[in-house]
Formats: sequence, structure tokens, C-alpha cells
Amino acid sequence: MGQPPGSINDLNPVKQTHNSIKEVWGQRTPHKGDWPVRKDERLMDEPDEWVQSACLLCSNDCGLDIGVKDGKIVGVRGRVEDRVNKGRLGPKGLHGWIANNSPNRLTKPLIRKNGKLEEASWDEAMDLIVNRSKGIIDKYTGNAIGFYTTGQLFAEEYYTLGVIGKAGIGTPHMDGNTRLCTATAAASLMENFGSDGQPGSYADIDVTDALFLMGHNMASQQTVLWMRILDRLAGDDPPKLIVVDPRVTYSAEKADIHLAPRVGTNVPLMNGILNLMIEDDNIDHEYIKEHTFGFDKLKEVVSKWTPDKVESVTEVPAAQLKQAAEIIGTTPTLFSSVLQGVYQSMQATAAACQVNNMHIIRGLIGKPGSGILQMNGQPTAQNTRETGDDGALPGFRNWDNPEHVAELEDIWNVEHGTVPGWAPPTHAMQIFRYAEQDSIKMLWIVATNPAVSMPDLGRIRKILSKENLFVVVNDAFLTETAALADVVLPVALWGEKTGIYTNTDRTVHISYKAVESPGETKSDLDIFLDYAKRMDFKDKDGNPLIKWNDPESTFEAWKECTKGKLVDYTGITYKNLTGGSGIQWPCNEDHPEGTERLYSDANFRTYPDLCEYYGHDLATGAAVTPKEFKAMNLQGRAFLKAADYEPPHEIPDDEYPFWLTTGRLVYHFHTRTKTAMSQELNGAAPDSFVQISKEDAERLGITEGDKLEVESRRGKAQGPALIGAIKQGHIFIPFHYGYWDKPGHPRAANELTLTGWDPVSKQPYFKYAAVKVRKIDEYGWPEGHEEEHKGLGKKIMGGVKSIGKLGSDERGQIRPIHEKKVAEEGKKKIHVADYIGLVHQSEQQLEDAFKDVAEHHKAEPDVYFACNLLASWSKSHHENIEKFKDRYSEHKESEPEDLRKEIFHGPRSGGIGLVRDLHDLWLLANESHISWVVLLQASKSLRDKELEAACEKGDNQNRRQMAWILTRIKAAAPQVLVVPS
Ligand code: SF4
Repeated sequence: MGQPPGSINDLNPVKQTHNSIKEVWGQRTPHKGDWPVRKDERLMDEPDEWVQSACLLCSNDCGLDIGVKDGKIVGVRGRVEDRVNKGRLGPKGLHGWIANNSPNRLTKPLIRKNGKLEEASWDEAMDLIVNRSKGIIDKYTGNAIGFYTTGQLFAEEYYTLGVIGKAGIGTPHMDGNTRLCTATAAASLMENFGSDGQPGSYADIDVTDALFLMGHNMASQQTVLWMRILDRLAGDDPPKLIVVDPRVTYSAEKADIHLAPRVGTNVPLMNGILNLMIEDDNIDHEYIKEHTFGFDKLKEVVSKWTPDKVESVTEVPAAQLKQAAEIIGTTPTLFSSVLQGVYQSMQATAAACQVNNMHIIRGLIGKPGSGILQMNGQPTAQNTRETGDDGALPGFRNWDNPEHVAELEDIWNVEHGTVPGWAPPTHAMQIFRYAEQDSIKMLWIVATNPAVSMPDLGRIRKILSKENLFVVVNDAFLTETAALADVVLPVALWGEKTGIYTNTDRTVHISYKAVESPGETKSDLDIFLDYAKRMDFKDKDGNPLIKWNDPESTFEAWKECTKGKLVDYTGITYKNLTGGSGIQWPCNEDHPEGTERLYSDANFRTYPDLCEYYGHDLATGAAVTPKEFKAMNLQGRAFLKAADYEPPHEIPDDEYPFWLTTGRLVYHFHTRTKTAMSQELNGAAPDSFVQISKEDAERLGITEGDKLEVESRRGKAQGPALIGAIKQGHIFIPFHYGYWDKPGHPRAANELTLTGWDPVSKQPYFKYAAVKVRKIDEYGWPEGHEEEHKGLGKKIMGGVKSIGKLGSDERGQIRPIHEKKVAEEGKKKIHVADYIGLVHQSEQQLEDAFKDVAEHHKAEPDVYFACNLLASWSKSHHENIEKFKDRYSEHKESEPEDLRKEIFHGPRSGGIGLVRDLHDLWLLANESHISWVVLLQASKSLRDKELEAACEKGDNQNRRQMAWILTRIKAAAPQVLVVPS
């Protein structure tokens, strides 16, 4: 069997406690209560020393020690002291470290010259990045720069980058690939409990009476956590296990009840369970009364989801649903875990919230054996969310709460108004959209591979290949994404740097540097510190913005940012993380040993001054305003958020008759850049496949191993048939496989997936798409894809992107000539001038209309006086906006005048004439209102305080104009319409 280039033969260890490739979960240690230790170990050579760390290949973060000999990593052993794994390691943990030793590692920075990536010095690479950054900020503001990061850095690296992005550059465009993975986990926790932060603890598994795994194939994803469950199932008094998955996974095989809904129907399934629990009175009335909000609405919404109706939509038999609801409704304790089958599917946040609701209405939260894990996927996804490198502010602060934003600015000692707080941080899918539209001109991608992991890959490749987009990539390998970059920075991997990271159940681990990183590689932290220095970011006193210089001082700065927050790290030090187990936050003076569970006191984070956000309409994603949130008066109660079913946006039809779902395999992580370096792991799962049901295979004449091509409206992927263990009408393809080791083989599942996302969490849909499948004679290039694939997978040379001829700019720095052109074009594209013009003209039209109404309805003195007053406000606004014409120019268009002609047909006479005139005025005032809102948002992002003040005044008085019109029309309408004069 061919192995990938650069992979390492790790077939003959000098020691291994078990063969984790063949026996993935190893020997059972049956238990109830304390989980016994089992020390797993695998060594390719006898180490000289052991260095403390934790595995970085899934969100479990199992404690381990790194074995080192002659400056090289030679193996790992599980840490029996650690609360997470008690010494156990899974196949990825035991084998994945080998990637550090791969000859495929990048060792020098690369810069694209004449269309090819060429080795360069660090000074050359960093100067180019800094020069571009400064040039772009000068021309377009920091809004033209975006960061797309990862779930694999250390907390110190995320935090430093968060400060650089938010307070140095001032961009709202920072997100991680955690958006693809666990954005819904955070969103559902915020919707129900007011804040991110996992309520449960792994220790709950040791004592629980029932387990509910929804869309979570734990047996493959978090193998060590699954061992904990297998050991409970093998022990005395085993818990009941319910698994929800359209495939018969390893996890589903062990279930007492396996519910296999059609993809995209998680909400009706959960509504059916909730309905049965309520109907059978299997709920905690006292808890609901004292600690929740929204029960009546929830009851009303779920009441129509009878078992028969659920069966008709989900295809889950009614009898099975009743059995599941009976267990959930009567078990003394319940532990639930949710993952991508929910998060990457239709109605992601709505469905995840229903799992939370299921616990809340039984009061099964914050108690031993009763916990929820809205699970993470990647090892440090939790830190991306905590430190503000995704759609949140550091320390779970609320971007929509000015006090939270100001608090952060005070910690960083920057002027108020520096940190973007005018809109939610931009989510990853929108960042790529802005790049597609030329609005983002520099994209810094850190430790992730969107050219394989994002949906609709043909589109993603086009975006990354755009001439007008300057792409920087930090990576250890030349991934499919790095091959498209303008600059590639080679980085140190885990084991080659020091820092902390946090797993799903809030356990913080330290990972020490065990070996030197190869060649000229640097840690991401050192790269960010260097960038901040070269950019000369300052605080408001003229001191350096970044005041730390190594991992431990960075951690101390991060702790300061968390003080008093739910995510409180202040009691954690490098010292108390060393030598023993990981520690669960919050950890502070009150909880020096950490905190096992959140919400044991049923006091949730739903206070307006504490909450991380104010919530959303689960169907539309419309944000709840601070005022609306305050009016609900939740004050520490959990919010039972209801949702009704909405069908997926793309469903099978005659042309594309199958549902596609994608996912992961036990032997690989993410896009295989690390796991494929182990010949053992790669040998166990060397290539992609197309899983199809036995019934569908028979009908189509497909036998095991047949060459298949799957096609959606977006692209094609090929692979051998794997028959069975999947619901009829469904196709499964693992998403790990791209092109770096098999150039030209069109096998990436994400060629097929669609560009669309959950309205609340913004997590893309990977778990449903309509596809067709056919047998083919040979694998090959899909038509029309030749150019897109060409060159991928080659080392250094051969990226498909050209950045044009290099020249010198006014600073004497190297700068591609085409970028100058873009900058000039970009200037013309600033649309502030458009809205200066719109506001100016709208207010002029409004002034004229108010005056007309005033003159025509003189017989109504209140109307006369009010309309003249309101006309004067509009006059002052359009005069006031005049001065900004010099600053931003003004584009005049005829829309406002045309609109007035179209909308305002008055003035008319009499009582009904007044109502009609006020009606038209209200419509016209709305036109002005939306222009003010748009300009106000832009002024905040431009940090133009004068324009912002003008817009706020305009917006405020415009609202008052509309409020007067509404008040007056409400008073007039009943009389005029009912008793005409
Ligand atoms: S369960 Fe996750 S963290 Fe633990 S060894 Fe396996 S991959 Fe590593």
C-alpha cells in the first residue's frame, strides 16, 4: 500500500501497551464510581527524559508525557494522575506525535514570487506582511484585514492574536475554524444559560444512570471518553445508552436505543421527546417554576409533535421514540453529549437548545451524574472561544454591552472606541464572502486548512487564489491552503513550544516544550509578538500594546482578563498545572481546586450585565435587543427556547436523489496533515470512500469496492463503495481527504457540500446536501476541474496563484505592482459617500414632506406645529451632513426623490387625508432611518467620532419623528375609519 510522502514508518515500536490500531479502545476496566487507571504507552525508542503535556488531537486533551531521546520525540505515555484520561490514550494520541519528525515539515518562510513559493528569510517575510498590513490599513482601515484561525493553538497564542486584531488593527473580522466545528456549542449555551461554558463534567459519566449521545459518534471522535462509557457499560449497574445518528456507528452499535432520524430532522425528533416528557408529566415542576423562563411557549410549540407526526417527518418509529422518552423522563440522572450531527445540520442551534431544554425541565443539571456537554471537536476550540479569536470578546464578554467593551479597553489601556463593538464579530463564512467581494484584502490563516475543510471547495479555492487577496498562512506543512498563499510562515508544533489549553469539560492542561522545533520554525506566539513589534502597536500612553514576551507572562496577562468572569483562570498557575492533573476553571480564590460543574446552584448567567449575549430568534437569527432582553427579566433563570421544524434548504429530488452527510474517522484528525504522517494511522484509513445502504446498493447494482462518483450541484467526489450501516437514501463520505498526497484525485467531500449556515451560530451545513451517485470505470479528473486541481500537493513550487511582478513602493519595501492598482481602485469603492448622499437627500425630502403636511393640515394645530418642528430637524440634519461631503465625498442618486414621488402622494384633505399623509410620511421617514443606521455603523468602524455623533443625533431624532407619526396616526385612525366625516 502506498504511503503519503513524508510519512514515517512507525510499525515497530520498542514498547506498546496495546495495539490501538486493532484494539482502538483497549482492555476494559469495568467501573461505577471512580474510574480505574490504565496506563497506555507507545515508544519507538527508550526515552532519556519525560516531559509533561496533553494530547492535541481532539477536544478530550488527554494528559500525557512526551518521551524524548537525543532531542527527538520518541513516544508518549498517558498520565495516570490526570482526571481526563487516568492514563489512557487512543490511537491518535499514541501515534499522532510522529508528525513532528516528518521530513515534510516546513523549515523556512516562503514568499510567492512570479507565481511560485520560494524560500525567504524571516525579515523578508515579516517585512512584506507588515508593509501590506500598514498599506491596507492606511487605505481601507483595519476592516480590510481578516484572521481565520484554528482550534489547535495554545491559549497564550490566541490571546495575543486577539489583542492584536481587536486593539491593534481594530478589525471585527476574526474567527476560527471552530466556526465549522463548535460554534453551535457556544451558541446553544449562550441561548439557554446566557454564557458559553460547559455545565457538565466527565466525572458525571462515572455515576450517571443514562447517557444520551446526539449526533456524536464518540467512539470515533473522543476514543478515551468512549472508553469511560465502555467501562461503565461493562461494570455493575450500567447506564442506559441512547444514541441518535443516521448511521450505525460504533457508538450506535452499543446503544440500548438507536434513533436514526433522516438528516435535517433533529428539531422534530427532540420536540417529540420533549412533548412526551411533558405529556407524561415526567418533568420537575418546582425547578421549572423557580429556575426557568419560557416553559409555556415550549409546551405549546412541542405539543403538536406527537410520536406519529415525528415518525412521519424523521422516520424514527413512534414506539422507539416513546421508549427513549420514557428513559429520559424517568432516569434519576442523565448525561448528554451533542456534536456535529447536530451542529453541522439544519436548525443546529435550535436542536442543541432542545437537548439543553430536556435537562432543564427535569432539573438534571449541575448535579453528579447529570450534565450536558455541548461537545467541542478540536483540542483547543474552547480557548478560541474564550480568548476572542472567534465570534466573541475575550472572557465571554458581550460585544453588545458597551460596559463589557469598555472594560476590555481599560484592561488593554486603549482608547474607548478602539475595540469593534458596533456589530457582532464577523463569522468565518462572512469573512470569506468579504474576501470574495474584494472587501477583505488581507487574510491571515493560522493552523487550518480551509481548502479542504470548508464547504463548496471550488469556491474556496477561487477566493484564496484571488489576485486582490493577500493570503498569509502559518502552518507546519505545505497544506492545500498553504499552497495558495502569498506568504507561508513555518511554525513550531505541539511538543516544540510551551502553553496551556482547555478541553471540553473546562480542564486546563499545560504542555511543555520537549524538543527544539526544526530549521527556522517559530512558535505562533513568537510570530505574533514579532508582528506586533514591527507594526508598532501602542496603548493610549504610547507604551507597547503587547506587554508580554513569553508564554508564562502571556498567561498571566490572560488571567487578568478573566478575573471575576465565569471563565476565571486567576487561581491557575503554570506551577499548579505541573506534576498533577489538569484543573477545571473557574478556578480562583473561592475555588482554588477548580470547579467540577457549573450551575449547581441553578443560578444561570442570564443577567443583563453578566450575559455573553442577549439571544436570538432561533428561526431567523434576528438578535434580541438589550432592551427586549432586560424586559424579559430572566435574572438568573435558564431560558427554555422553543423552535418549530423547518425543512433543510436543499432536499433530494429526481436529479439528486440522495442525502449526503459527511464526518470523521477514528484514525484521522481534521485534514490529515498530522495523522497521515503515521504509517500506522494512515494504513488503517488510507483513503476516502462512499458509504451507501445495502438496499440502495442492491437497487443500483453496486458491490463493495466499486468505483463511485458522487455529484452535487457544486462539484464531484469519487471513492470506492462501502456498503451498509447507513440509513437508506443516505450517502456518507469522510471529510479528511484532500489533495496534498494524492494530487488530482477528486475525493474531497467538501467539493459537494453547500454554502449555507445556521442562522444563530453561523455554523456551516456539512450534514446535508442533495447528491446523485453513479458507478464509474476509472477514477479521474472531473470535467472542468483540471485547472482548479493543478499544482496542488507539490512541495513549495506549483501553487496556482500569481501575485504579479514585484516592484518597490513609496516606503522602499517590496510590494507587488498589482496591489497598488487595487489600492487606487479600492479608494473609489468606499461607499460612505453613497450613504452621505442618501442621508442628505432623504432628509431633504423628509423636510419637504413634513412642510407640505404642516401647510395642508393647518386646521389641525398639533399637526401643523409638530410637522414644522420635525421638518426643522430634518433641515438641520441635511445641513449638518454637508460638512462630511469634504471628508468622504458625496454620491447623489435620484432614489430619495423618486421614492418620495412614489410614496408620498399627499398632501390630501380631511380626516382620511391626514391618516393617508401620515401613513406616507412614516414610510418616507423609514427610508431615512435605514440610511442613518447604515451610516452610523460605518462611522463606528471608521472611528470617526464626529460623523458618529452626527449620525446618532440624526438616528435619534428620526426615531422621534417616527414615534410622533405613529402616535398621531393611532389616535386619528379609529375615528376616521369607523365614523367618516
Ligand atoms: S481521545 Fe483525543 S485527546 Fe485523548 S488520546 Fe485520543 S485523540 Fe488524543
